[in-house]
Amino acid sequence: KATPHVKKIAILGSTGSIGTSTLSICEQFPLRYTPIALAAGSNIEVAFAQAKQWRPKLISIATEPLADALKLRLRTEGITGIEVLSGIPGTIAVATHPEVEFVVSAIVGVAGLEATYAAVQAGKTIGLANKECLVAAGDLIISAARAKNVALLPIDSEHNAVHQAMRGGTPAEVKQIWLTASGGPFRNTPLEQFQHITPHQALKHPTWVMGQRITIDSATMMNKGFEVIEACRLFDLPAAKVRVTVHPQSTVHSLVEFIDGSILAQISVTDMRLPILYALAYPERPASNLTFDLAQLSQLDFSQPDLAKFPCLRLAYEAADAGPSACIALNAADEIAVAAFLAGHIPFLGIPRTIERVLELTPAANPTSIQGVLAADQAARTCAREVIARA
Ligand code: NAD
Ligand code: MG
Repeated sequence: KATPHVKKIAILGSTGSIGTSTLSICEQFPLRYTPIALAAGSNIEVAFAQAKQWRPKLISIATEPLADALKLRLRTEGITGIEVLSGIPGTIAVATHPEVEFVVSAIVGVAGLEATYAAVQAGKTIGLANKECLVAAGDLIISAARAKNVALLPIDSEHNAVHQAMRGGTPAEVKQIWLTASGGPFRNTPLEQFQHITPHQALKHPTWVMGQRITIDSATMMNKGFEVIEACRLFDLPAAKVRVTVHPQSTVHSLVEFIDGSILAQISVTDMRLPILYALAYPERPASNLTFDLAQLSQLDFSQPDLAKFPCLRLAYEAADAGPSACIALNAADEIAVAAFLAGHIPFLGIPRTIERVLELTPAANPTSIQGVLAADQAARTCAREVIARA
């Protein structure tokens, strides 16, 4: 049997939850995937350990002082041959490194936008975890990907499931898709108690272990709202054809309903390593140990989401219909509101209240460049901070 080609990958957000899961796949499949360029935020300890273990050609870290500290650490340990860069130029260099074939986009928030766009323009195959990129700049990224004939493979588990189920028919045969939602930690909490929800409670997700922002977004169901917009972009569907169903077991990762009445679902473990592996390997399916014991499965529940308890989901559908500037504001306002909630500055219900007010104050626009998107993003952030300060 011929040795498989070793795919050279870049990881944007290597120290995060998705980033470290990606490296664990590289550990399991050393003859298939090897990381040669890494971009991290400010976790220098983990970045150093990754550089030491993987000896990438290039590593980028958030700021210049951090890069200097990282260089010193590497020198002290006698590790040579690793280029260390910083900031957005560094992240872009990681995303566009000439030897890189596949880029895992897993920086949280619009911080990952420029690098992801640069990777698409450089013709890299993309494994996309960063949903905020598609929410804020979906049209730009998707049209650049089409122009460059670049594959955007979803790592977000729901979209990954839809991508798999879509292989069961043609786009014209799709009636609608169903994104499953765990419902988060407050699925059974009565609305009257929502005003007392603390950051500590909101950070406990019942089925997935993830970064802080996405965990809070899951508690408000804004995460599902972003995923609705992400699905519209990835699969070229209007929001009305992207439905949400609450499925507490998080076993069915999503479903595609075809016009003949057939519904295809994808079932697997709740472990992000599987969608990461799928994206890295597509269109192949390597054998893995990420098995799911169907015999242990006793029950699958599905129910309608409660929009009174989770207004963020309604706001996302409204933004999807309103257009690009509303989607940019939705994401930006949410990022600010989530940080304010975690800092104890606003209550849990202050998150949707802030976002709704920012959406009302945001003028309609359709930015035609990434710079335009980032300017609209900044304006929405300023607006969100003002709304919070006045509250
Ligand atoms: P995380 O907070 O664990 O990790 C974020 C990563 O981004 C870290 O490596 C951090 O250092 C890096 N980063 C942050 N700011 C940066 C900057 N300015 N420059 C360079 N790097 C920076 O987040 P996560 O849970 O891994 O999520 C990453 C993305 O994947 C998010 O967009 C999230 O919505 C999406 N996602 C995550 C999951 C999951 O299970 N964790 C599932 C689906 C989608
Ligand atoms: Mg998801």
